[in-house]
Amino acid sequence: MADQPALDMDIDVVTARVLLPLALPGAYDYAVPGDLEVCPGDFVRVPLGPREVTGVVWDALPQGVESRPVEREKLKAIVSRFDAPPLPDVVRQFVDWVAAYTLSPPGAVLRLAMRVPQALEPAPTIIGYRLSGEEPPRVTPQRQRVLEILRETGPQLARPAREISEMAGVGTSVVTGLAKTGALDRIEMPGERAFAEPDGDIQGPKLSAPQMSAARGLADHVGQGFAATLLDGVTGAGKTEVYFEAVAEALRQGKQVLVMLPEIALTPQLLKRFETRFGAPPAPWHSDLSQKERRRIWRGVAEGRAHVVVGARSALFLPYTDLGLIVVDEEHESAFKQEEGVIYNARDMAVARASLGDIPIVLASATPSLETVVNVQRGRYERLVLPERHGAARLPDVTAIDLRADAPDRGRWLSPSLVSATTETLAAGDQAMLFLNRRGYAPLTLCRTCGHRFECPNCDAWLVEHRFRRELQCHHCGTRVPTPHSCPECGAENSLAACGPGVERIAEEAVERFPDARLSVLSSDHLHGPEATQEAVGQITRQEVDLVVGTQVVAKGHNFPNLTLVGVVDADLGLTGGDLRAAERTYQLLHQVAGRAGRGQKPGRVFLQTYMPHHKVMQALVAGDRDRFLQQEAREREDAGMPPYGRLVSLILSAPELPQAMETARQMARAVPPADGVRVLGPAPAPIALLRGRHRVRFLIKATRDFQVQKYVRAWLAEVKLPNAVRLAVDVDPQSFL
Ligand code: ADP
Ligand code: ZN
Repeated sequence: MADQPALDMDIDVVTARVLLPLALPGAYDYAVPGDLEVCPGDFVRVPLGPREVTGVVWDALPQGVESRPVEREKLKAIVSRFDAPPLPDVVRQFVDWVAAYTLSPPGAVLRLAMRVPQALEPAPTIIGYRLSGEEPPRVTPQRQRVLEILRETGPQLARPAREISEMAGVGTSVVTGLAKTGALDRIEMPGERAFAEPDGDIQGPKLSAPQMSAARGLADHVGQGFAATLLDGVTGAGKTEVYFEAVAEALRQGKQVLVMLPEIALTPQLLKRFETRFGAPPAPWHSDLSQKERRRIWRGVAEGRAHVVVGARSALFLPYTDLGLIVVDEEHESAFKQEEGVIYNARDMAVARASLGDIPIVLASATPSLETVVNVQRGRYERLVLPERHGAARLPDVTAIDLRADAPDRGRWLSPSLVSATTETLAAGDQAMLFLNRRGYAPLTLCRTCGHRFECPNCDAWLVEHRFRRELQCHHCGTRVPTPHSCPECGAENSLAACGPGVERIAEEAVERFPDARLSVLSSDHLHGPEATQEAVGQITRQEVDLVVGTQVVAKGHNFPNLTLVGVVDADLGLTGGDLRAAERTYQLLHQVAGRAGRGQKPGRVFLQTYMPHHKVMQALVAGDRDRFLQQEAREREDAGMPPYGRLVSLILSAPELPQAMETARQMARAVPPADGVRVLGPAPAPIALLRGRHRVRFLIKATRDFQVQKYVRAWLAEVKLPNAVRLAVDVDPQSFL
């Protein structure tokens, strides 16, 4: 052996496959230096062209698949390995699974799990001081105060200089001076707050019999492998209390829990409720966190120190070491759909995550999606029902107001019946809410002289007037212009007319009609961040407000015990347009809004202003017959071969110039592979044909339910070469058809 030629050493080069968090087609092989040992999941620094990037050591390829041969000379070496917990197996499998399902590059999905680069670095530390036991050579009165304070408040405890100086009322130099004399020890301590541990043994409220049996049903699944359960109960039935029992069980078993919410506005409320129930707050995860908090939580989750995460869809990609339960609250919400970058439905991906992790998942809703209901019918999901509101609260009475018969005055939006009901409610000292799901003052501004309409220069959309801010705004791209005084087309002065109402216009009418009511206008334009929403919600709960005028930001999830009237200004708003789920969504939204009324002791009333009182959505809401509505929807979808009875994938090509997009689309159309069970519709201009300055052309792929649509689309796209100017967005199970 000793006389083997040194050249042969090359044969023993160890390589590792590394996935980079970039939208590249696959993983790369790197040489592993002799002094480094790496395992799948390890985070490593590797060279990529002139740069160095962080990636993850990925698994060996599945059996039978050859690794791409790497030329020895081109093989670059891993630079270093991070001293951080490896990305768990199940998270890596999940990344691969999501990539395959959504037809995204695996690296683009990995990026979702690597949003916090600082989390791979060692934890920050800070310097603390505590008594050493030695006396300083010279004791000034200020030094004396510091020593006394430290003796009184715990001589063993190290604290930052700032904290000590504040307690003693002296400058920080007194503290550091004392350390120099040797009277205080300087100690390096963790710079991050520890995670308080929620206690699964704390008793929750006494549950009613149906709540108890649902809670048992959920808790029994914890630790017993994969199971998906729909927790189906009207608003106020106690779904949260019930799934908390499953959370408690997971905590008792020492497992981590993820609770997903559709909107971060709902988070503070749930955090508080959780803390009351379990004695410690969960870790929140959403886009509003500081980098420091993100680091702390990401690392805490990776090391199993953070036990419960409450968050938006991105929380699904955290590196849980021992996840034992997922809850998706308000599972029907379209906000779970990520519409940019990797396009995915977090609810569906959560089910996949639970299945890969072999853990239970709870989908909670008062208005479950048809997808979920059909999964129950097919026996894939279990269903647990809470039939009634908790305690004395009853579901509200719903009445449709026919706007043709009960018309508002010209230029007004509230019908006489809604005005008198609101007046009555306010006179009784109760709270009322007027709901309109449209931000701003008016959705369209036009010139009365020449008919000019104000449109966004970058999008196929009208500019919405925001009167409080005196500007016109595009709700698609955010373009803003100051509201002009004259028409840019014909120059006419004072000729601009606001058409249609937004929530600000309803507020204006409410001020005139109910001058004594304390009014609160709530839409995302008036509430910046979850804290502001929480504050506004607090004012309503404390009854510092009589009348709420709001968009869907207040419609969901909140509990206002004294609110007894909800008026829906335009119940038809969501029904126009060709959206497959228009009726289902409108039903869900209006049901949620209606559910705000009568959650306390007093019964609630709901009025729906509509031009279509006989529409199936209004009928279902008035009759309170959700299941018949769902049956009807299901039948129509089945007849049309639409989801959940068929499959859809949408492809959107976009380019700065329309001919570029169209030409690529035509080429793609010629490459459509023939197959049974699938139809490719298009190319056609998208309903929003111009968005953020890009022209959009779309295909819709419609397939039978058992057709392998991902495989088909992958094969098709492999034949297509996109020019640089053209972008392609692939949307599997599209929710938006714009
Ligand atoms: P949901 O999530 O179904 O809308 P919640 O869990 O928010 O319902 O319950 C509605 C309200 O009723 C909450 O204030 C909740 O604390 C209260 N509640 C529900 N069940 C109970 C119970 N068993 N004991 C005491 N309060 C309850
Ligand atoms: Zn725009």
